[in-house]
Amino acid sequence: MSVKHKAKALIVHCIDFRFQKLVENDLKMRNLKGQTDRISWPGVSKDLENIKKATKVSINLHDPDEAFIYEHEDCGAYGEDNSLETHRQNANALKDYLEKIKPSIKVNTLFVTLDGIKEI
Ligand SMILES: [Zn+2]
Repeated sequence: MSVKHKAKALIVHCIDFRFQKLVENDLKMRNLKGQTDRISWPGVSKDLENIKKATKVSINLHDPDEAFIYEHEDCGAYGEDNSLETHRQNANALKDYLEKIKPSIKVNTLFVTLDGIKEI
């Protein structure tokens, strides 16, 4: 039987290398570096069914109390409709799912641009 390990937070971000440094800095600023489950997935919450499966594993195994969803501008996985509204809708769908499987989790939906990170 394995010992239960608790992650401070669950992080979900895109594979896009251009935004990694910004995400890294944000995690550092939030004092979360090295204390999170991190999922790097093309398009983040656009691929909802797969991202649901991956995030559920994190919640079941490491019971994070907070989640950070990092959507980003100019995402190749989005193709033509890269609007902030579409990113917001997808991030909120993932947020709803996480809150359904763990009602007490605090979910932050964020949008990364080369100018910085804002809440969406
Ligand atoms: Zn992307």
